[in-house]
Amino acid sequence: MRVGLALLSLLVVTGCGVASILRTTAPAPPPTAPPTAAPTTGGATPGPETVDPSGTGQAGEPGRPRPWPSPTAPEPRDISCARTRCVALTFDDGPGNYTSTVLDVLARHHARATFFLVGEMIGKDDRPVLRRMVAEGHELGNHTWDHRDLTAMSDAGLRREIVRTEKLVKDLTGVRMHGMRPPYGATDRRVTEETRRLGLAQILWAIDTLDWRDRVPKLVVQRSTKAKPGDIVLMHDIHKTTVEALPRLLKVLDEKGFTYVTVSELFGHLTPGKRYSDR
Ligand SMILES: [Zn+2]
Repeated sequence: MRVGLALLSLLVVTGCGVASILRTTAPAPPPTAPPTAAPTTGGATPGPETVDPSGTGQAGEPGRPRPWPSPTAPEPRDISCARTRCVALTFDDGPGNYTSTVLDVLARHHARATFFLVGEMIGKDDRPVLRRMVAEGHELGNHTWDHRDLTAMSDAGLRREIVRTEKLVKDLTGVRMHGMRPPYGATDRRVTEETRRLGLAQILWAIDTLDWRDRVPKLVVQRSTKAKPGDIVLMHDIHKTTVEALPRLLKVLDEKGFTYVTVSELFGHLTPGKRYSDR
């Protein structure tokens, strides 16, 4: 995790779900550092020999540089959300300090989710956690470089916000993302056009847990478990209280017979530029 103070304070204060707040706020300062999270030579750069790049416990031979193969995602699942009670849990603004714990809890429930990553949050130590997401069947989504209101940016600026994160995630994981979430849910015709050109669907939400505002696990449980089949649920893996809510909310949704799917699984196919919030 790597995060500028300006970004962190913005995320802490506003979360994702309230476009109106940011639109009245001065834009964050421009990014000051290039993505130093990883060498970017087509994914073939040797990593530190003591680090397990896949995050799956398969460390390489000591003393010998070796490439970083793309993590192998599990086979696509044959789930029809037309006939199954599907819900798409989504986690924004990470990776953060609690992301690994989120993955642990999801694994215990055989739950797949979608992580909307902020490029500036991806630090040099985050390669394993991103690759673990892929290896465990989660979906990666683009949440821009530093979480600005895209509707307030120039065409070139908003394109850069998306492309920069796209490239970093591709370099680290080999994954080309198919969905993006506009920060604060702020979108308009230009954002729609640009995401369409970049091959990314716009993923909004049906249930906002407001976990960024109310740091109370019980409220996160109450709100998330109101999900109906086909809903996308918005949460944030950067908040401890959300992670604390996760075991309970999964238990309640388990009891309601939900299957936890990625956004792509929920819709089967994502159309670039199109906005999705439920099925
Ligand atoms: Zn966000």
